[in-house]
Amino acid sequence: MNFISSKNKKNNKTATAKKIPPVAAWKHYSKKQGAVNERVVRAKGENIVEVKDLTLSYEGSNVIENLSFNILSGDYLCVIGENGSGKSTLMHAILGLKKQTDGKIIFKSLKRTQIGVLPQQNPTQNDFPALVSEVVMSGCVNRSSRGPFLASGSKKLVFENLERLGITSLANRPFRDLSGGQKQRVLLARALCSAEKMLVLDEPVSGLDPKATADIYSLIADLNRKNGMTVLMVTHDIRAALCYSTKILRINKGSVFFGTTEEFKALPEAEAYIDRKDFPVDEPLYGDGGFRYGGN
Ligand code: ADP
Repeated sequence: MNFISSKNKKNNKTATAKKIPPVAAWKHYSKKQGAVNERVVRAKGENIVEVKDLTLSYEGSNVIENLSFNILSGDYLCVIGENGSGKSTLMHAILGLKKQTDGKIIFKSLKRTQIGVLPQQNPTQNDFPALVSEVVMSGCVNRSSRGPFLASGSKKLVFENLERLGITSLANRPFRDLSGGQKQRVLLARALCSAEKMLVLDEPVSGLDPKATADIYSLIADLNRKNGMTVLMVTHDIRAALCYSTKILRINKGSVFFGTTEEFKALPEAEAYIDRKDFPVDEPLYGDGGFRYGGN
């Protein structure tokens, strides 16, 4: 069992890498060239982010203390925990937006510019005055080595990601006119333009109806399983976390769990979220709006 006291467990190696042979590449079909281009996303099982004894605080008060875990390429890691437990703060630290008080975040064969981010929704982005294609294109800026200018191939990448998410027909629509689910697809396409190796999502389905929720979860699962994208997701939706993730990081004041999803399912606290032995990923799960951590 992987119940770890955040103070005492400095060298948690419970879920460290099993060496799995490198897997294939991410195949892109280019309509223009009629050719299949391959872009290697990962060698599965490689340690790409190592968080060691991390402490994060605001104004002298610790939100996260001595936290250690790692992310392997190909992982689908869900971060769960009650409101205020520090999930978003941890994401910000991993993305370099929040400085750590102590400890280390070590990137191995991964650059921050290779991470695509789907941030928590905020009301101001809903009225963003731009076309869908422009919003998606803004995800390509990180790829450029020429400052704010777009790298060559950006248009092709935008086209590919619009197509991958089934929203090519929305390309010339104003972003603000879209439904909540369509907006999340657009923002996911945007994130994919910079996600060469890893996708970070903070509550990607909050505010979405059950159908849009199921759509987004299934898109993310496909990206992970079929394209090998490493996924790091903050979620309140424990049932979805149990269904889709391969690893769970549960942070709560005082104690931390980090391990495989199977190990988490064996904990008494997971019982309430397991209503059958298996979780077939293709079945719709969200008729009930999903289960929420802490009863939200
Ligand atoms: P979660 O994502 O798990 O809900 P957060 O990371 O947003 O938690 O917040 C963790 C704690 O840090 C909360 O108590 C919150 O009030 C506090 N906090 C978050 N952002 C700031 C900030 N910019 N300044 C001060 N305190 C903050």
